[in-house]
Amino acid sequence: MSVEIRDGRIHWIGPASQWRGNRATVRVVDGRARTLIPGLMDCHVHYSSPGGPEWIARFTDPLPEISMRAVELAETSLRSGVTTARDVGAPHGVGIRLARAARAGEIRAPNIRAAGTWIAHRGTYVSFARLFEETDELRNEIKTEIEGGADLIKVALAGWNEGARPQDAPDIPFDKKLLAVAVEEAHKAGFKIACHANDPTSCRIAAHAGVDSLEHGMFLEAGDLEAMVKNKTYLVPTMSVWDAMLYYARAVDWPESRKKRAEDLRQGSRAALTAAIGAGVRIALGTDAGGGAARHGRIAREAELMVECGMEPRHALIAATSSAAALIGESERGKIEEGKIADLVLLDANPLENIGALRLIVDVFQEGRRVA
Ligand SMILES: [Zn+2]
Repeated sequence: MSVEIRDGRIHWIGPASQWRGNRATVRVVDGRARTLIPGLMDCHVHYSSPGGPEWIARFTDPLPEISMRAVELAETSLRSGVTTARDVGAPHGVGIRLARAARAGEIRAPNIRAAGTWIAHRGTYVSFARLFEETDELRNEIKTEIEGGADLIKVALAGWNEGARPQDAPDIPFDKKLLAVAVEEAHKAGFKIACHANDPTSCRIAAHAGVDSLEHGMFLEAGDLEAMVKNKTYLVPTMSVWDAMLYYARAVDWPESRKKRAEDLRQGSRAALTAAIGAGVRIALGTDAGGGAARHGRIAREAELMVECGMEPRHALIAATSSAAALIGESERGKIEEGKIADLVLLDANPLENIGALRLIVDVFQEGRRVA
């Protein structure tokens, strides 16, 4: 098959023998014995942090360092075949600025859809999130994100930080009622809402809330998965994080208890994904590069982990392309079809035979231009 690109879009697809153009007037890229796939999409990255064993500390590095690093990491991501990414949280709105620079064509980066900063309940999660306590404050934080240029809303459900829990407070203060407010507020404004949930209670709340995507979700159970199917909520499993955590647990010699926790999370994550596949939950690929121990530029590893958990390579590829496009709201990307934006990756092997072929990148094209 041959693909003709004109003005950044896929103009024609068919056998080369039927092509009616003049070879002398076009640039030809030889794809013989190679496989052309849609540009990959990573639905969960944080370009403001490099990942690694101390990923959370890296979010509070000096702002100039965070900003410059974000530009470099976005390019690393692009080189690995990621032509669209969702940056789901950064300090100081760095992700939004990065997305703007990418959109303007000023930097080599994926097409980025950025949340501003995480929205979390005061006393939980990270100190550099936007923190609220009351319903009105929550509504205001969401409005502030939207006014600040965010493309989507990211909320984080989490338990109390050490010593922060008031007497008689529930485990998870960002409860069902508050999440319903967040979903309503985001959807009313026409924005999607992504929800971080990585403990059993948060998974339960998020699965039933009607959020657009549930991030991590390693404690999802049958009833939750059923609710996600009904609510058309995507699962973004971010399995690379646990994989990387276990690597660092050994490499930098974490204490036994922390190693054990990483191993449990990894097992939970694998079980949840396998069950989600069985239940027919919509799945979109996300690595959580930067937001956990996972490094940037390794999207192929996430796809491999999905296949290890029982996904057909074809479905892992769909999770990284057309399903991701549907979640992100990129209807003109994610497929090789006439009329679509020509974000493409040329590989030296066929990922439908072996998903590891996603590492064998020959060329990356963004809107028809070769960028890596
Ligand atoms: Zn994250």
